[in-house]
Amino acid sequence: MSYKCSRCKRDVELDEYGGVRCPYCGHRVLLKERAPVVKEVDVR
Ligand SMILES: [Zn+2]
Repeated sequence: MSYKCSRCKRDVELDEYGGVRCPYCGHRVLLKERAPVVKEVDVR
């Protein structure tokens, strides 16, 4: 599964590592990568 570090914005591959942590900067908040949701809202 692919994640993105919320601090350094690098792509992080998580294995059965035992912890959720960015290997580059050590940050612990990773964002789940998913298809960008582009929504057009018609605001009037
Ligand atoms: Zn990071």
